[in-house]
Amino acid sequence: MIADNEIDLAATRALLLTACHELDDGGRASKSSSIAKTFAAEALHRVVDRATQMCGGLGVSTDLPVAKIAREIRPFRIYDGPSQVHRWSLAKRAVRTIAGDHR
Ligand SMILES: Cc1cc2nc3c(=O)[nH]c(=O)nc-3n(C[C@H](O)[C@H](O)[C@H](O)COP(=O)(O)OP(=O)(O)OC[C@H]3O[C@@H](n4cnc5c(N)ncnc54)[C@H](O)[C@@H]3O)c2cc1C
Repeated sequence: MIADNEIDLAATRALLLTACHELDDGGRASKSSSIAKTFAAEALHRVVDRATQMCGGLGVSTDLPVAKIAREIRPFRIYDGPSQVHRWSLAKRAVRTIAGDHR
């Protein structure tokens, strides 16, 4: 579980850097920011959920900060566009690209 957390965190950092590089280069980063936002929100949820599981009962108690972090992480998949909306936007762009419209 610790290794899986490391993998999720490393992948999140890599996707964020891709979007940041595009923005630094003056691009809109619409696709890469949607990918990074959706992946990060869901990866952080998985990371906190594994941390909760590894801590057992303590993980859901107020003795550790894990339950508080889990509660604070949950809205990530809703604000700045729910995951479903980013997926809709990514799918629309992908279908347009396949159809030859590169807007
Ligand atoms: C902690 C927190 C902080 C926030 N901060 C800000 C802020 O600073 N500024 C700001 O402007 N807003 C902020 N918001 C609002 C946030 O951006 C909205 O909650 C978010 O855009 C979702 O809109 P909604 O709540 O109206 O949900 P709805 O749009 O009603 O969506 C509800 C659910 O329906 C599903 N859904 C919606 N659209 C689709 C679709 N096209 N396809 C499939 N499923 C879909 C998703 O599962 C979604 O979670 C914040 C929200 C929270 C929880």
